[in-house]
Amino acid sequence: MVERAVELRLPFRKWPVALRELWRADHESRRRRELAFINVIALVSCLFCLPLDYSNGQETFQEGLVLRLGLVVPAYCLAIYTALRGGWVLQRWTSILPVVCFAGVAGYLGMHNGAAPQNEYVMGSALIVVLAIVVVPLRPEFIIVMVCLSLAVLWAVWAALPPAPARQAFALLAYLSAISLVALALPFRTATLKDRNFLYALRSQLASERLIAVNEQLRELSHRDDLTGLPNRRYFERIFHTAFRAAKTRGDDVAVMMIDVDHFKQFNDTHGHAAGDRALKQVAKELEKQFAQAGSTVARYGGEEFVVVVEHSSHDEALRLADRARDAVARRPVTLDLVGRVSITVSIGVALQRSGAASPEALIERADEALYEAKRAGRNIVRLAREEDRPGAPDALKKSA
Ligand code: GH3
Ligand code: MG
Ligand code: MG
Repeated sequence: MVERAVELRLPFRKWPVALRELWRADHESRRRRELAFINVIALVSCLFCLPLDYSNGQETFQEGLVLRLGLVVPAYCLAIYTALRGGWVLQRWTSILPVVCFAGVAGYLGMHNGAAPQNEYVMGSALIVVLAIVVVPLRPEFIIVMVCLSLAVLWAVWAALPPAPARQAFALLAYLSAISLVALALPFRTATLKDRNFLYALRSQLASERLIAVNEQLRELSHRDDLTGLPNRRYFERIFHTAFRAAKTRGDDVAVMMIDVDHFKQFNDTHGHAAGDRALKQVAKELEKQFAQAGSTVARYGGEEFVVVVEHSSHDEALRLADRARDAVARRPVTLDLVGRVSITVSIGVALQRSGAASPEALIERADEALYEAKRAGRNIVRLAREEDRPGAPDALKKSA
């Protein structure tokens, strides 16, 4: 949407509605403050005109007092109020109104009172219009309305005054009207540049948000194993090192389990590699389910081996978890087309840090040795690393299949 608007250089009115809404939301608070500020300045300058009226005689002063305080000042007060509190539609019209009143009153005072310096007042009214073109932060369409209304009021005043004021006022008014209309090019140009800047800024903001999201995805993917979706070995090693150090500092225990699928080569040879992949995925899913309940992390260590880290664990708890996982895998055969259900089992080696493993690598090595023991003992078995044996603890959980 943004790309299209930038590439086709779409004018604001042709932007998609959502984009225009975004523009409004972006400009909302800034425009409110700008409108209120500009209207306050204009209100003060309107009041500063009173001494000028006074210097041009009693009649001008009295008329000026009535018209400025009765018409222009309330219009500005309303504009300031709606700039701060009102909705967008109200803001537009109440910002146009005081400019029309201010210019109209200046023109009237000049053309009505022969004693007043007519040309200065007419010039002043045009100056108000041109200044408003430059500073009032409205879209060009509304600036056009504002200018046309102001000029219409000035011409109506000129025409309505009996007799129509001097030729000189006519010429001046015509000249200033032309200048005001030419000055309208300015808000168009400014609005086009501002709109384009808004689109460029939005585009680069979206691009950097996309980049951050892609980076996040890449980081997430670099942690995952493609086949099973489990964390990979690299990621596991990172979290395991952290868990190991934290456990050591706290004097707490951490358990590691090495899990290996039994006779997997044979499974592949008999049913094919694709069936082997399916079996691995199923085992991974089951292990993840079992250990997620215990708040532990399972990762694919490589090939048909998985590894689990269990924090705050005890011997009994680690053995119980490992045996529950072993049992769950054994109870869920893999269903293969043509062949039907084929049972699959895992052997698990468990090691705990409490017995004083010096490093995370040493602990994994011990779990590996326990796994080897489990394999030697017949598979589908959980074994505790030998150094971990302690009086009263179960030496090993027996083959249950
Ligand atoms: P053991 O019970 O002693 O572990 O026997 P095993 O056959 O499982 O052990 P071995 O290490 O001899 O075989 C592992 C097999 O796992 C060999 C390899 O082809 C297979 N394997 C490793 N990674 C994958 C994989 O991603 N997909 C499939 N389908 N097979 C894999
Ligand atoms: Mg293996
Ligand atoms: Mg194996």
